[in-house]
Amino acid sequence: MKNFKKNIRNLSKEELQDFFLSNGISSYKGTQVYKWLWEKGVVNFDDMTNLSLSQRSLLKREFIINHALINNKKLSNDGTSKYSVKLYDGLIIESVLIPTTRRVTACISSQVGCSLDCIFCATSILKRMRNLNSDEIYDQILLMNHESLISYKRPISNIVFMGMGEPLMNYNNVLSAIKKLTSTEGLKMSPKRITLSTSGIPKIIKKMADGNVKFKLAVSLHSAIQSIREKIMPFANKFPLEELLDALLYWYNITKSIVTIEYIVWEGINDQKRDIEALVEFCKKIPSKVNLIQYNPTDNFHKSEANKEVLNAYIKTLNFSKIRVTYRKSRGYDINAACGQLANKITSN
Ligand code: SF4
Repeated sequence: MKNFKKNIRNLSKEELQDFFLSNGISSYKGTQVYKWLWEKGVVNFDDMTNLSLSQRSLLKREFIINHALINNKKLSNDGTSKYSVKLYDGLIIESVLIPTTRRVTACISSQVGCSLDCIFCATSILKRMRNLNSDEIYDQILLMNHESLISYKRPISNIVFMGMGEPLMNYNNVLSAIKKLTSTEGLKMSPKRITLSTSGIPKIIKKMADGNVKFKLAVSLHSAIQSIREKIMPFANKFPLEELLDALLYWYNITKSIVTIEYIVWEGINDQKRDIEALVEFCKKIPSKVNLIQYNPTDNFHKSEANKEVLNAYIKTLNFSKIRVTYRKSRGYDINAACGQLANKITSN
């Protein structure tokens, strides 16, 4: 039989207050329920111990609490953990915890599958099944925080939206999860510790800047030559590089936050002098730093990372032009948890 109860997490604080008022109960109970749901992360009405038994029964009659669960976990030799997270409708997403001596970074998914088609990315072979709701994104973060406390004895310190999906294709829900996460009623996390990584959708980058957001922005560029970028990220044919650059400048002028350019160098794709020069020219136009990312082969893309000489040539040329550059080694490669490898390969229970 279909469940007609509403998901209580879809209600704002004001709506919860109104619900109690309309049942002849103080609106303050709505504030308390909101805190249980979003500050303490409870998933059971009986755990709301400052509510009377009759108030809990009232909630149970009217609502359910949809929530995500950890379905499986894999631990890498380098300490990275990958989790498959089951959503209320049985669909699975993946999240990753990456510990270092000073931080634990949670890599968070924003969609089930992905609507874009980057040919080097394992997630792209999963069709986009749906967007995550904002409470599912928030749940994922609470679950990762809990796991981090168990596995690494400290809470998560940083969040990157770099898991499954393109966060800007689910912008409203991602933004509302970040708002909750940074609020005093959520995890109170500083927005400076949150990075949203996008493949670059100019219109929404501008919208984000207009929204006065305080988190950081990273863009997966992978080529500063339009024709090459379109080959590896086919959707980019709708978003010419000039438009992307224009949006990034708009972002910088409003937020004053420099952009991280994510870039993988593949043999036979972007390993020539003209590729390096194009990247340098692109970066000169926008306050940015470059993250060269180690490539992790996937089943659907059989290219190799360029050799050390090419990588060094990138680093040397960028340094020479006074553009900050780092080379980021992948973590969790042995458990398919590295960048671009998330494709639900953990066996489900
Ligand atoms: S790299 Fe990101 S945007 Fe591209 S297909 Fe993979 S998940 Fe989607």
